[in-house]
Amino acid sequence: MEKTLIILKPDCMNGMHAGKTISRFEKEGFRICACKMIQLTDALLKDHYSHLADMPFFPNIVEFMSSTPVIVLVLQGENAISRVRTLLGPTDSAVAEKGTIRGDLGTNKQENIAHASDSPEAAEAEMKRFFADSEICSL
Ligand code: ADP
Repeated sequence: MEKTLIILKPDCMNGMHAGKTISRFEKEGFRICACKMIQLTDALLKDHYSHLADMPFFPNIVEFMSSTPVIVLVLQGENAISRVRTLLGPTDSAVAEKGTIRGDLGTNKQENIAHASDSPEAAEAEMKRFFADSEICSL
C-alpha cells in the first residue's frame, strides 16, 4: 500500500472537473485518506516547485497555481504513486493520450489538471507539506 499527494489544479477547479477527476481515481480503487481545499501561497509554491525555480516559466506556475483555491488530496492504494502518474499521463496535456486524465481534460503543459507525487520520497515530503499527520486517516 502506498499513499500519494494530489493537487487538483486551478484549471481542474475552473473547468468543474474535480468530481470527474476524483471519480476516475476511485474507479481505479484508490481511496481518499485526506482532503481539503486551500489557497496556495507563494511560499508553499516555492517549496513545492523548488525543482523548477530557475525555469523561465516559474513565475507563470506560481501565478497559475495561486489563481484560485485548489483541492489537495492524499490517495491510498497498491502502487499508488506510479499508477496515479500513469492515469494522469505526461506533463504536456497536448501530447497526453486520450484515456489519460490529462489527455481527456487538460489543455497544455501548464494547465494539466492535477499534480501527483512522482516518487516515495516526494510523496512523503508533499504529504507533510500540505497535511498534519492527524489529518491523514488510517484506512
Ligand atoms: P509533472 O507535474 O508532470 O510532475 P514537472 O514536475 O516537470 O511535471 O512540472 C511541474 C509543473 O510545472 C507541471 O505540472 C506544469 O504545470 C508546470 N510546467 C512544467 N513544464 C512547463 C513548461 N514548459 N511550461 C509551463 N509550465 C510547465
